Amino acid sequence: MKAFYTDHFVLPLPEGHRFPMAKYRMVREQVGDLPGLNLVEAPPATDTQLLLAHDPVYVQRVITGTLAPQAQREIGFPWSPGMVERSRRSVGATIAASRVALEDGIAVNLAGGTHHAYRDKGSGFCVFNDAAVAARVMQRSHGIERIAIIDLDVHQGNGTASILRRDASIFTLSLHGEKNFPFRKEPSDLDIGLPDGCTDAEYLAALENALDALSRRFKPDLLIYLAGADPHEADRLGRLKLSFAGLKARDERVLEFAKSLNIGVAITMAGGYGTDINNTVRVHVQTIAAALGYWKRNATKPLETSA
Ligand SMILES: [Zn+2]
Repeated sequence: MKAFYTDHFVLPLPEGHRFPMAKYRMVREQVGDLPGLNLVEAPPATDTQLLLAHDPVYVQRVITGTLAPQAQREIGFPWSPGMVERSRRSVGATIAASRVALEDGIAVNLAGGTHHAYRDKGSGFCVFNDAAVAARVMQRSHGIERIAIIDLDVHQGNGTASILRRDASIFTLSLHGEKNFPFRKEPSDLDIGLPDGCTDAEYLAALENALDALSRRFKPDLLIYLAGADPHEADRLGRLKLSFAGLKARDERVLEFAKSLNIGVAITMAGGYGTDINNTVRVHVQTIAAALGYWKRNATKPLETSA
């Protein structure tokens, strides 16, 4: 299974910055030895690709470092050429994973899930919206008509919902903490707001209902799945109470959904802010392990010897 990584494109942050940048390297290191996992450097998204979901003036300002200070603060990262490159690669990884998922059934971006980025502004550590761009690239260049974005990060996918609001060919599902950031939510095609303290059983029941509703309303040709680690009970920002086992069951359920529709699924990591970063990494790693298991069970081609 191909897993696209970007962590070596360093986004320089000041000492003590609250974004857990180290998690991406830690995830790559922990999955690197899994038999059958093929780590691939993510390609950069091109300007043409970014413009499928973003405003030209915004893209230009990001690239040239000319965003207004307030707009840069809303992203939450200081500008640098490294920030631009990392952001391009993170989108490129989701595009690449989506493309590979068409052939291999599944592929993973070891970053991405930047769902708070709007068409003309970044927000909450999100510069460009990888899922929205990748969905449009799949339509434009790979003959895919209908894509469902299943966003299970604990925060609502407001940027994705906003960009795709009037696009009936891309279905947006967000299952999130109702009381959590963003406090002004944007309407997705399907939003499920969960109460604080939501447990595994409540969450999995809500997911079941959401996937049922999705399949009644829409027939996707491809899934993009944001497997956020922040619904975990030890997350600093999550406010939900999902266990490791609950999150594993969540991942397996989404994979089973892809299998039932016989379509590919591209997975991105999205958020995770564990008080102990190792818990966040563990959630991401178990998602990748579940994806790898799925790939091995369902690979149509003979398995290659592990890379
Ligand atoms: Zn999140």
